Amino acid sequence: MEKRRCAGCGKAFWPRPQVPEQKYCGEPECRRSRRRSWQQAKRRKDADYRDNQARAHRAWAEENSAHWQVYRCGHPEYVPANCEKQHQRDRRRCAAKVLAKMDSSKLLSAVPSGTLSLLLVGVEGRAVGKGAAQPFVKEQEQEGNFDALGREAVGIARSVALQ
Ligand SMILES: [Zn+2]
Repeated sequence: MEKRRCAGCGKAFWPRPQVPEQKYCGEPECRRSRRRSWQQAKRRKDADYRDNQARAHRAWAEENSAHWQVYRCGHPEYVPANCEKQHQRDRRRCAAKVLAKMDSSKLLSAVPSGTLSLLLVGVEGRAVGKGAAQPFVKEQEQEGNFDALGREAVGIARSVALQ
C-alpha cells in the first residue's frame, strides 16, 4: 500500500491495511475532522438521524442549561464570534424560510417582526365581500409596528406576502 495525503492536515500518511479507503491520518484533529464531515453528510441526507440528533441535543441542553453561560464567562472571545456566526446561520435559515422559534407555531416562521404595511383581508386568505373571485380582498390598509408574535397581524402579513 502506498502513502497518501491526509484530507485533513495534508500530510502524507500510511493507510491502515484494514481501511483501504482511508482518507484521513490518525492525528486526533484529523480524526475529529473526518467524524465531523461524516456527521454533516449524514445530517444532510438522513432526516431520522437529523431529528434524533436535534432531540438529543435539546435534551442535553435542558439538563445542562448553565453550560453555555459558564462557557461564555470563561471564553469572552467566543461571544462576538458566535454572535456573528449565529447571525449568518439565521440569515441562511431565513432565506430557506425555516427560521422559527421551537415553541411557536409554524404560521409565524416566515414573517419578521418590525414595521409592516398590512392589508386587512379575509380569514386565512379566503376572499370576502365584493370581488370574492380575487384571492384576497383589500378592505383597509394599515401601517403599524407589529410584533411577529401577534398572530392575527402575522396571518394578514403572510397573506399580503402571498399576493
Ligand atoms: Zn491528517
